[in-house]
Amino acid sequence: MELINSYAQLNSSFFERALPKDVKNPTLILWNDSLAEELNLPAELIRDREKLAQIFSGNELYPGFDPIALTYAGHQFGNFVPQLGDGRAHLLCEIRDSNGNGRDIQLKGSGQTRFSRNGDGLCALGPALREFIMSESMFYLGIPTARSLAVVGTGETVFREGQKPGAVVTRAASSHLRVGTFEYFSARQDRNSLEILLNYTIQRHYPEITEENIHEKSILLLESVINRQIFLISEWMRVGFIHGVMNTDNTALSGETIDFGPCAMMNQYNPDTVFSSIDHAGRYSFGNQPKILQWNMARFAETLLLLIDENPDSAIQKALPFIQKIPEKFDAEWLNMMRRKIGISIPANKDDELIHSLLNLMEKNKSDYTNTFDLLTRIMENQDREYASEEQLNAVGILDWRDPWQSRLKQENNSDLKIADLMRKHNPRIIPRNHRVEEAIEEAENTGRFEKTERLIEVLRSPNRISDQNETYREPPPDGDQNYMTFCGT
Ligand code: AMP
Ligand code: MG
Repeated sequence: MELINSYAQLNSSFFERALPKDVKNPTLILWNDSLAEELNLPAELIRDREKLAQIFSGNELYPGFDPIALTYAGHQFGNFVPQLGDGRAHLLCEIRDSNGNGRDIQLKGSGQTRFSRNGDGLCALGPALREFIMSESMFYLGIPTARSLAVVGTGETVFREGQKPGAVVTRAASSHLRVGTFEYFSARQDRNSLEILLNYTIQRHYPEITEENIHEKSILLLESVINRQIFLISEWMRVGFIHGVMNTDNTALSGETIDFGPCAMMNQYNPDTVFSSIDHAGRYSFGNQPKILQWNMARFAETLLLLIDENPDSAIQKALPFIQKIPEKFDAEWLNMMRRKIGISIPANKDDELIHSLLNLMEKNKSDYTNTFDLLTRIMENQDREYASEEQLNAVGILDWRDPWQSRLKQENNSDLKIADLMRKHNPRIIPRNHRVEEAIEEAENTGRFEKTERLIEVLRSPNRISDQNETYREPPPDGDQNYMTFCGT
């Protein structure tokens, strides 16, 4: 295991050294073997579950770990908070993984820090399991994401709505640099720290930016971060993911999904879908995510103005076009993604009309997003377009759409097999259905058993494999999740 700890070598305005708190009775609940392998964790450590529980609860420091709580700010639901920071997380170390990339290993729920404000620094078991389940699913769906290495029960009680068992979740992320990290220094007009942060971010995530000039570097970073965010949000929308708290402190500059708080999956297609209990205005609803992406990138651009040009007006003139172009670029990315979902390889005019006519039908008929695209994919896989599909398409109200779709596909002269292959790569069969996630968490909270959680994770690791045993994981909730609600700050 090779420790790099590069962030801990920046100056102390970027973080505060802080020790995780001791916990009473740590027990290893979930462990991610394949991730542990990728991180080259020592074999003798991996074999010792007791030791893993001690280390990944924060009770014991492994040699070379240098725990810190990171400084950052952020816009939460549109409001600027000049100082947030890791209020319940400790970055233990950065490990060079088997691909040569640095990976931050961070405990969450590991006690108070200077940034805790009124929080208790803790995490309940439910949200810890949710983070593990959701991030693992995202990874196997092929979406850039932070991953979870472990969930350790603390043997202690956390007070939320009532008493809950406590846990610490360990995550591995390409970094914990956020838009909010830049906002922290920009709000203080700290040009020097911004420049350090800019160079660090480029070195860590965008080494292809080799420009020396600070003005040009800043613009290139802005453009690169925007591109990754566009890809990420379009990928979320491919699988029906709703992040739920797209605040700037939860927007990673690496382009990974981080902070799985009140996230959830859409069942019936409706762009207005929102599950988070605190998101009354639907700011972070499924269909609003591209708009928020632009809003968040505008905040990021603002933090760079000091570096882009000494003259504030010129800086704005230089940055603005990149923000203005986002909707158009997003639409193009999204359209290509949707094309692949319906089997189109080569773009043509009016594809957007074809796609929107499908989505309109789906919205009207309350079709399940995942299962409808799966059905279309199976039709191509089975090559039974003429007969079996008719009934099925009729059942979900999209029979009228079949002929225009099929004639569009015929324009390309691809074999059904090739089309099906393309579609399958973009249309999962199994997603982390909200009711399945809740059922697993309930079992864990109420009985202290984790069979449902473990089984769910296993099923989610093969999102395209259907067997008699996992067929039921495809089923949407009986009530369409009408009363489903997720909670933040848990
Ligand atoms: P989140 O909504 O999880 O992204 O958290 C937003 C901010 O609140 C971050 O600065 C967290 O560190 C902080 N925070 C959330 N929950 C707690 C808690 N239980 N104790 C202390 N800080 C917290
Ligand atoms: Mg956060």
